[in-house]
Amino acid sequence: NVRVRFAPSPTGPLHIGGVRTALFNYLFAKKHHGTFVLRIEDTDQNRYVEGAEKYIVDALNWCQIPFDEGPGKNEKFGPYRQSERKHLYKQYADELIASGNAYYAFDTSETLDFHRKDHEAKGKTFIYNWHNRLKLSNSLSLSAEAVQAKLDAGEDYVIRFKSPQDQTLHLKDMIRGNITIDTNILDDKVLFKSDGMPTYHLANIVDDHLMEITHVIRGEEWLPSLALHQQLYDAFGWQAPEFAHLPLILKPTGKGKLSKRDGDKLGFPVFPLEWTTPEGDVSRGYKEDGYFPEAMVNFLAFLGWNPGTEQEVFNLEALISTFDLERVNKSGARFDPDKIKWFNHQYMQEQDNEMLAQTFQQRHSELKDIDVNYITMVVGLIKERATFVSDFWDLSDFFFISPKSYDEKAYKKAMKEGTRELMTELSVLIHAIEDFELDQITTTIKSWITNKEIGFGKVMMPLRLALVGALQGPDVFDIMYMIGKAETIERIENLAT
Ligand code: GLU
Repeated sequence: NVRVRFAPSPTGPLHIGGVRTALFNYLFAKKHHGTFVLRIEDTDQNRYVEGAEKYIVDALNWCQIPFDEGPGKNEKFGPYRQSERKHLYKQYADELIASGNAYYAFDTSETLDFHRKDHEAKGKTFIYNWHNRLKLSNSLSLSAEAVQAKLDAGEDYVIRFKSPQDQTLHLKDMIRGNITIDTNILDDKVLFKSDGMPTYHLANIVDDHLMEITHVIRGEEWLPSLALHQQLYDAFGWQAPEFAHLPLILKPTGKGKLSKRDGDKLGFPVFPLEWTTPEGDVSRGYKEDGYFPEAMVNFLAFLGWNPGTEQEVFNLEALISTFDLERVNKSGARFDPDKIKWFNHQYMQEQDNEMLAQTFQQRHSELKDIDVNYITMVVGLIKERATFVSDFWDLSDFFFISPKSYDEKAYKKAMKEGTRELMTELSVLIHAIEDFELDQITTTIKSWITNKEIGFGKVMMPLRLALVGALQGPDVFDIMYMIGKAETIERIENLAT
């Protein structure tokens, strides 16, 4: 029974990389009819940001990848906030001390700083491990009595993992294959602090175990922690989950890791939803910028994964059935902000026209009193050219208001000798169409042009100019039918006179 978790720390809004991690967990869970758990890793109270947890939940819901278990939902393995599980962790730290896998350390931050600088000055890096630990203040270097005395006196301590000397670890990652690590380069990571809080490493392993997580799918930045995590599972005598570390997301240039600043600089959103910092700074969100969640999900799925075919458009259901961790790349995935626009355009075509029309109407006071059925028909005619609902007005204003001016170049191109007379004739012809239906309009005008033996462009270009004010737009006959006979005639006469 597959159980995966998304375990963000609520230190701010969820960024694009976080959503990608959540999505891959979701897809993997759904593909295997498993459970997608949300766990809030809030043990670091200094980095806690108000509102971040709600943001994370809202973002997952907006993307339509909700969690199955988590804070306030199917709390079978709850609580799901580590701050509410605080009482659980100490016994595990104690267990590691008892089994000789961890030890107390009392070094002050000044001492550690001193050693760091001292090593640096000699061109070396200070690592708190077998190499240095006996020179420092801890239960491996001090007598049992001295340690007890320090604990009794209430001195600050940490509990560190005792990483072994001269061993080779064989680790396994579902994406990267086998990895070997020389334990001599590992430091004795802090697992627990005297303020009663576990660090990320301890809490993460204990909770993954207690929550019966079968697969850990997370960003590449956690790969360096894998050695410690595997050793913790071994030290506890627990079966470790399988690990999969997702590739980095790279800047649009392909060089270096994508950062929030790239978005600010290049003008694309970096968050799924808008985020306002406690200082009042607003960062843009995909939702508010007019992206569809389906487009964002499809785009994110391709950041590090591909189906091995040419197909690119996959709705969530198709992603679930096609997704496979085997097809996730090791190498970084370049973030291309134009690609998500392309996806948005694709998904625009699949949106319900009436729903789009309602959104469109809400955005423009000019549309307030217009029948939504009419707007819906307009949307149907123009959306193949739109990426966002915010493109609609420029693509369709002529359906609602007569052109106020003509595009200069278009005017020069369309208006030749005799064009005005031709347009006057045309308006008389249109006047005579009794049944102003699309078929009637089309055949009447087409046969008139054929009979006159003049090129189609001679009529269609100025006609389009009269109706639209430019030479682009949907089919001219559609436009005429939509705006109606009287308005059509009026616009043609405006151009002719
Ligand atoms: N709390 C970690 C984070 O913020 C979780 C890492 C993991 O998935 O193990 O990304």
